[in-house]
Amino acid sequence: MNQNQILFDRASKTSPGGVNSPVRAFRSVGGTPRFIKRAQDAYFWDENDVRYIDYIGSWGPIIVGHAHPNVVKAVQEAAAKGLGFGTPTRAEVEMAELLCDMLPSLEQVRLVSSGTEATMSAIRLARGFTGRDVLVKFEGCYHGHSDSLLVKAGSGLLTLGNPSSAGVPVAVSKDTLVLPYNDVDALKTLFKDKGDTLAAVILEPIAGNMNFVRARPEFMRTLRELCTEYGTVLIIDEVMTGFRVGEQCAQGVYGVQADLTTLGKVIGGGMPVAAFGGRADIMAHMAPLGGVYQAGTLSGNPVAVAAGLATLNIVRQDGFFDNLRQKTTALLAGFSAAAHDAGVPFSTEMEGGMFGLFFSNQAPQSYAEVMASRVDLFPAFFHAMLDEGVYLAPSAFEAGFMSAAHTDEDIASTIAAARKAFAAISHLV
Ligand SMILES: *Cc1c(COP(=O)(O)O)cnc(C)c1O
Repeated sequence: MNQNQILFDRASKTSPGGVNSPVRAFRSVGGTPRFIKRAQDAYFWDENDVRYIDYIGSWGPIIVGHAHPNVVKAVQEAAAKGLGFGTPTRAEVEMAELLCDMLPSLEQVRLVSSGTEATMSAIRLARGFTGRDVLVKFEGCYHGHSDSLLVKAGSGLLTLGNPSSAGVPVAVSKDTLVLPYNDVDALKTLFKDKGDTLAAVILEPIAGNMNFVRARPEFMRTLRELCTEYGTVLIIDEVMTGFRVGEQCAQGVYGVQADLTTLGKVIGGGMPVAAFGGRADIMAHMAPLGGVYQAGTLSGNPVAVAAGLATLNIVRQDGFFDNLRQKTTALLAGFSAAAHDAGVPFSTEMEGGMFGLFFSNQAPQSYAEVMASRVDLFPAFFHAMLDEGVYLAPSAFEAGFMSAAHTDEDIASTIAAARKAFAAISHLV
């Protein structure tokens, strides 16, 4: 009996689409989602007791590997002392100090429970701080599912945004402008026309929600300069890249500092912890000090924070990222060689423990270029890998994640699986 199928059928009766977050449903690759019942190190096992080498890592958080003993112990100890108090705790102080210590642009920080909350709150803060309404985002970047961020480009450059989801009022989307990613000229034109009406610009410095597209250094530099010149708050959304691509997140990679940063995923180590923070003069506008309201019953939950602290304490050890980078590099070199031998158009991108795989001869630099790659080859490739016991994200538009727990043997078996998978899809090219 296929337990995954049985559970999916049951789930579909009481939950829309059988899942609690859409991409888990395998809609874009077809087939039945795997229901995972346990995980350890680089592996997880589904309800049929099939083992997979996992390259999603819970969509980023599991950077030290699944069920790391330090993290599990910290969670168990915290849980034994009570699941939550709704009061300040010592662990939250330690978490805030650690985050501000690790990321130079953070002077103050507030903890929340999801990346969506972090970006939504950072935008409200930027609007409250500047007294302006207009928000700028970039095509292909994802910042969670709050109303003002579920907006796509209208027709033509610099037009007002349109809702990208039913249920988002047009009135809300009108205050979000959408520009093409990496387009320096579009950015300059917008600031020249409307710079002093712009509350904030938010971006993914390495966009992991359109596979993997990095900002060009010139784009980041120009953005930083224009925001400073016009008094617009630069929000760098590091929910995915934070402590995933390097010691000082993507800001360290680019040498650019945000006014406000949003964090999530890795800082919770698999539990619901996220944060926003940055310049102290901006953060001073938050309630209870200032007029920007934001609150959370479960914010800074002690069990969740314990997981985050234990994870970050491993991540900040000397050599952690060098080791992770070597693993990612080895994996991608193997994939590229295998694709080349099979005659499949293929390219890769990576930073630290995050990577992108593309069915195109050159790595894309924008949403349009991602869409122009052979995304049609992905479903067959995904299923060929899954059949070999390798779990990639079930979408051509999601990044992959390496963990410190992946061994050389895991990487070698993944590459061996990729050889078979590329050969299996080569007739489609
Ligand atoms: C995952 C993600 C979010 C949303 O975080 P959730 O915890 O899923 O709400 C926001 N921004 C980026 C860049 C993300 O990758």
